[in-house]
Amino acid sequence: MSARILVVDDQPLNIRLMEAKLGGEYYDVRSAGGGEAALRTMAEDQPDLTVLDIMMPGIDGFEVCRRIKADPTIQHIPVVMATALDAPEQRVRGLDAGADDFLTRPVDDLALFARIRSLLRWKQTHDELRTRLVTSREFDLLDVVVVGEASARPRTAIVSDFSIEADDIARILGPQYDVTIVEDVPQATSVVTESMCDLAIVSLVSTTFDGLRLYSSIRSNPASRQVPIIAIIEEGDRARLAKALNLGVSDYVVAPIEANELTVRVRNQARRYRAHSRLCADYERSLSAAASDVLTELYGRRCLLSHLARHLAVSAAEDKPLAVVMVDVDHFKAINDRHGHLCGDRVLQEIARRIEHEVRVTDLAARYGGEEFTVVMPATDEPTASAVAERVCNAIHARAIVVKDPRVTLPVTVSISVAIRAKGDDVEAILDRADKALYRAKSVGRNRVVAATA
Ligand SMILES: [Mg+2]
Repeated sequence: MSARILVVDDQPLNIRLMEAKLGGEYYDVRSAGGGEAALRTMAEDQPDLTVLDIMMPGIDGFEVCRRIKADPTIQHIPVVMATALDAPEQRVRGLDAGADDFLTRPVDDLALFARIRSLLRWKQTHDELRTRLVTSREFDLLDVVVVGEASARPRTAIVSDFSIEADDIARILGPQYDVTIVEDVPQATSVVTESMCDLAIVSLVSTTFDGLRLYSSIRSNPASRQVPIIAIIEEGDRARLAKALNLGVSDYVVAPIEANELTVRVRNQARRYRAHSRLCADYERSLSAAASDVLTELYGRRCLLSHLARHLAVSAAEDKPLAVVMVDVDHFKAINDRHGHLCGDRVLQEIARRIEHEVRVTDLAARYGGEEFTVVMPATDEPTASAVAERVCNAIHARAIVVKDPRVTLPVTVSISVAIRAKGDDVEAILDRADKALYRAKSVGRNRVVAATA
């Protein structure tokens, strides 16, 4: 389905012109002749993007934009402002009202299509996350935690070979940005991808490095794919601008830099990225809520299996070891039979707590089912895994478990097996070996750790 774009303008001629341009690119174009009509249409039709005129009778474009961005039902729809007024303060006012982008009439086709593509791409990712989040809320899997203003000082990398220019930019941004200045592509790539940057400002004016090459390396790395990039471009360098936009640059500022415009564009990008990061964090939280076992609060079986599959693939690709540790409560049926299921549950909760306490932060502990627990230990060899397993075994039999107050305690032990990834292992194969070793641990006397033979 082609993206739906709403064009808002009081001049029928402007609407027809836009319809012809956008229709030629196979967008589905609708129109509104004024602010009130625009707000109505947006609420009813939920277009993918709105192109908004500024000078209109009644409520003007700035006010329409402010109302859009204040309305939770439509604020996620990107707004591009188009006007004949080529004055920096107008751009700043528009972007300040929450506009996602700005176009000056006569509208340049290259800039128009590139900006629209980039905004639509962004909206698509955002929408997908929103949908998943809404789904998990509907299934009551998510207890939404409102995150405070994340990253009060956006970490910003300025990449430029003229140190004076970079200093100028840093000065314009002021102390509310946590700025790192870098002067070449390899350094910039590592700063942006490894130090969790919130924003990158890259000079395309520089002659000693190729800023375009940096864009593609930032965009091709999953860790930095969504990080906003603002290009500094020389006036009239349309060829490089077109390339930069095609490579996914988020926005650009023309040199010599106009301070207000830079400030507002940087702020908008940082805000949008923060909203996106928050949505991602909410989504991940909803996933982990969905994945946990209600009784023990450890991960559940399904989560364990997908986690194990992922780590098996990674450790095979990197040729690293991986350990699977299985923990099974000894004589658990007798505990249930003699003391009742509530006591049994209490025992499982306490064992889960002790396992979680003994394993390392990189290990993932899950309730595999019934009275059985499984721990996945990435990049771990047999001696290390066995040492951690011994620690778990001791932590459980060292202290009897309090199952009822006042102080009714039960001595409980566990049997544990350790299996190390062998060549060609899939999830089933490694779990099968761990299972067989667990059986041996049971048959030779319980309360011990047995390593599987490969
Ligand atoms: Mg007008």
